[in-house]
Amino acid sequence: SKVPPIILNNGVEMPQLGFGVWQVPDDEAERAVATALRNGYRSIDTAAIYGNEEGTGKAVASSGIAREDLFVTTKLWNGDQGYDATLRAFDASLEKLGLEYVDLYLIHWPLPSRDQYVDTYKAFEKIYADGRAKAIGTSNFLPEHLEKLIEATSVIPAVNQIELHPHLQQRAAREFHAEQGIATEAWSPLGQGKGLLEVPAIVAIAQKHGRTPAQIVLRWHLQLGTVVIPKSVTPARIAENIDVFDFSLDAEDIAAISALNEDRRLGPDPATFDVG
Ligand code: NAD
Repeated sequence: SKVPPIILNNGVEMPQLGFGVWQVPDDEAERAVATALRNGYRSIDTAAIYGNEEGTGKAVASSGIAREDLFVTTKLWNGDQGYDATLRAFDASLEKLGLEYVDLYLIHWPLPSRDQYVDTYKAFEKIYADGRAKAIGTSNFLPEHLEKLIEATSVIPAVNQIELHPHLQQRAAREFHAEQGIATEAWSPLGQGKGLLEVPAIVAIAQKHGRTPAQIVLRWHLQLGTVVIPKSVTPARIAENIDVFDFSLDAEDIAAISALNEDRRLGPDPATFDVG
């Protein structure tokens, strides 16, 4: 594959760059995932709430790529937290994906006000022990949630997938994850394609390297060591976003991007988010 892996804390290899499908309707997801797989992506990030596990699964099935060469992530939605509900929701996700196992299963949000994530994760440990998820982890967990989880359970999460981009660099969370052996995965790595790709410092670095702003931002993530899952439904951009393994940012570029941090979220605050 074009994409080098990172090694998770249980020895499983995860491609450092994958394809995200949030906000892509089911039929369009099938097309977009097929395009991504043709362009060399091997990791796909979906979720029960995205409503496109079926389309994702169809594209995977018709790709002709061996299952062991693919890395499929899905996520448990909020209303399905709790031990028994989690087991049922996982069965439904596998069924929609048409798979025997997923590579990574994540708790989508911690919902600290509901206080169910420990029980939920105990069901994840059962799924993991049964070999139906090759790795398990979390999404949108703050260090305090991870601390409580690790204290109460026995499998350290392999991954925590969090909002992370040059305007929200998450230094404290990344350091905490590194101390615990948890891989950091960046969601909305391109800042959802909003103002970030027009920031003058990023445009200047793009011109210097003869690359696009999206490629510069993805390269910044890769050199930080995080896993990235950019989303696009546009074939040229799908190709562009994986074409980032033949150049490097230098120390000056990295410093200029590091200076863009504003601790500014595009998505909800995990401490208070309680929907679904
Ligand atoms: P993103 O940062 O990947 O940005 C995607 C948008 O950027 C596209 O819709 C398009 O408008 C633009 N774009 C993409 N490639 C471009 C290019 N080459 N040039 C110019 N513009 C380009 O945003 P995202 O979809 O929010 O995040 C990526 C993935 O992360 C999602 O699809 C999903 O899989 C995951 N995610 C997870 C959570 C979570 O709570 N765990 C939340 C949001 C997203």
